[in-house]
Amino acid sequence: MNAKDITLKQQTVLHGAGIRHRLGDIVADMGARRALVLSTPRQSGAAMDLAERLGSRAAGVYSGAVMHTPRAVTDEALEHLRAVRSDCLVALGGGSTIGLSKALSLRTGLPQVVIPTTYAGSEATPILGQTENGVKTTLKDPAVLPQTVLYDPELVASLPATLSVTSGLNAMAHAVEALYAPDRTEATTRQALAGLRAFIAAMPRILDNPKDLDAREESQRAAYACGAVLGATSMALHHKLCHTLGGAFDLPHAETHAIILPHAVDYNASAAPALLAPLSDILGEGAPGPALWRFAKTLNAPRALRDLGVREDQLDRAAELAVARPYPNPREITRAGIRALLQKAWSGEAPV
Ligand code: NAD
Repeated sequence: MNAKDITLKQQTVLHGAGIRHRLGDIVADMGARRALVLSTPRQSGAAMDLAERLGSRAAGVYSGAVMHTPRAVTDEALEHLRAVRSDCLVALGGGSTIGLSKALSLRTGLPQVVIPTTYAGSEATPILGQTENGVKTTLKDPAVLPQTVLYDPELVASLPATLSVTSGLNAMAHAVEALYAPDRTEATTRQALAGLRAFIAAMPRILDNPKDLDAREESQRAAYACGAVLGATSMALHHKLCHTLGGAFDLPHAETHAIILPHAVDYNASAAPALLAPLSDILGEGAPGPALWRFAKTLNAPRALRDLGVREDQLDRAAELAVARPYPNPREITRAGIRALLQKAWSGEAPV
């Protein structure tokens, strides 16, 4: 069974305002009695609320999740999990919290219910990235795919405007690279385009009114579609570049994706014109890279790596790191090409 089948067939995915209130029944139906609620420190209040609502089925809260799933944090959470004799994981949060849940499930075999509050899409993939001594390794294993996903638009409505936009662009990046992935299928392309269409329609509505629950629900459906194709296809230049930059300069995940996406698309556009044409059609404004850049600008998304603290004199090293290991990409990866891309992404210029 490939990753796509796993994503589509082995998960229960529920959407709806207030759906989180069904958590108690869902945990009970799993036969679990002691759910450990996971979150980041910033979302510990919401995690406490959830645990309180779970009542006697809650074993407690662990609020130490951080970005990139460091093994030391997983070890600490595992100790806590064992101390409270938990038999089920509940992750409330974005990719960082869901990453911790996946890492714990991999080690213990415990079932997971995840309640995503960003659009990163980790809940839809059998992928887990973990870091140890500053080195990130990624594995793909059906065992880490959460059994149940609850998309409650009321919870994502608290995501600040900037994070909503960058997280949405992060999700769109999965779908864009799925369009030209060597292992794409008709189904992944259809799903990717549905996700892109929905995000492009929903994002302006969300900026206009962050509490628009219909737009939030639309964007969560889009996030699932984008996450599913991330799990089912191979990512290329955009994801490799974000991975390299994030690791080398400790950059925030969603912002880095938001800045790089138009430039990565522009780099690949000449090598995959037919595959990217539907994206241009959705954006409705000529070449896909510049059109994405203008879309990001209208959403007031961050557009310059220098605003994330990257220095111009670090770009040569970044280009070197980005070309160090070959990987499949529609257009040949050259050092000069990547260096030019990075210059524009650093200064915040449009890709053309
Ligand atoms: P995140 O989970 O780190 O969240 C960013 C910040 O926003 C955190 O402080 C979080 O507590 C806060 N936050 C989240 N939702 C909120 C809400 N609704 N209201 C207020 N604050 C909220 O960010 P992310 O972009 O979702 O995830 C990034 C991580 O996920 C990275 O480590 C990345 O590698 C990983 N990821 C993994 C996969 C996968 O398939 N394995 C896919 C995408 C991302």
